[in-house]
Amino acid sequence: MSNNPYETFIRQLENGAKVLGIGRDVVEVLKEPERVLEVSIPVKMDDGSVKVFKGWRSEHSTALGPAKGGIRYHWNVTKDEVIALSAWMSMKNALMNLPYGGGKGGIRVNPKELSDAELERLSRGFIDKIYKYLGPDQDVPAPDVYTNPKIMAWMLDEYEKLVGRKAPGVITGKPIIVGGSLGRNHATALGGFFVLREAVKVKEGKNLEGMTAAIQGFGNAGSHMAKFLAEAKVKVVAVSDSKGGIYDPNGLPIDEVKKVKSETGSVVNFDKAEKISNEELLILDVDILVPAALENVITEKNARDVKAKYIVELANGPITPEADDILNEKGIFDLPDILANAGGVTVSYFEWVQNRMGYYWDEEEVDAKLDKKMTKAFKEVYEAMEKYKVPPREAAYVVALRRLVEALKSRAVV
Ligand code: GLU
Repeated sequence: MSNNPYETFIRQLENGAKVLGIGRDVVEVLKEPERVLEVSIPVKMDDGSVKVFKGWRSEHSTALGPAKGGIRYHWNVTKDEVIALSAWMSMKNALMNLPYGGGKGGIRVNPKELSDAELERLSRGFIDKIYKYLGPDQDVPAPDVYTNPKIMAWMLDEYEKLVGRKAPGVITGKPIIVGGSLGRNHATALGGFFVLREAVKVKEGKNLEGMTAAIQGFGNAGSHMAKFLAEAKVKVVAVSDSKGGIYDPNGLPIDEVKKVKSETGSVVNFDKAEKISNEELLILDVDILVPAALENVITEKNARDVKAKYIVELANGPITPEADDILNEKGIFDLPDILANAGGVTVSYFEWVQNRMGYYWDEEEVDAKLDKKMTKAFKEVYEAMEKYKVPPREAAYVVALRRLVEALKSRAVV
């Protein structure tokens, strides 16, 4: 009954491997990250003192290509968490058929307590420590929890100074002006929206109009998802962030809530709705539940009380394996993280491709290409669900593992 995300990953890997009947050697290889960098980053604070922060970059697998995945800044980041997140990236990138392995980075820091100048020094300091292992053909970071395009630009700039040449493809999720892709900011949410649309289509033969939704987490992924759902005439009745949630059974005015969040720092300051806790939000009687924050929010403690018909995992690892079993028994259609939030890395891939070509697409083109990729991945997962009679997460692992096994065999690793 552990909530260690690395142990969660191992269980998910074993489950997928069992369905496919793949050998122990492959499982043993994929259990371990290929390389984990652990660094300490001394940062001169604005008051003249020095603080030392711990950071990690884990490259879980490079069998399918350069390691790819974000860097998060969070006060609870641990090495095991970063390793698990990098392993989930390997699965996600394989499932999406991207030419990437999996990587992830993290710094143990509360970015809200740092000034902009301190954050910049921290971000540049992290790159100073790991740049030798990064590169467009080696390891390509991106944003994750509490990191953003501005931070990516600092990191890019530091990397380019150190290597003495321009290398826009070394990092994705950049501001447009330094080689970012249109459509990257909303990509995680839009990808989740596309797979939800497909799931409702195959299950109920209808579109999303008239359904209700609750969204836990109102950062980049959650807030864009709220907008896409509202545009599809879904009633978004509840949203929350780390400070708490708000609820209105008639549907929240998303643009107004967004404004309050950006002006005051939290959705709880929107005063035209009832206040609810994050725990209450997760068990609301809605059609669609979207965990869009951190790991382990649905556990064996609250899974039985979840009432949603569909779950869209915009967060990585929001559901523990015990909770997974309960949700499956209840017949909830849970779109797993490695599928549901893969829109972000998919448009990161498009960004990297555009950087390499030096030729840039308009937003419609990016969104349309994302739709195609997400719909295809959903179909592959759905086919595996039917073929092996397994729930969506196991099916997604099956599709991903097939590609990883083939790559490991071609490279004669196994
Ligand atoms: N951090 C995002 C994820 O977990 C995006 C990674 C990327 O774009 O490389 O998928």
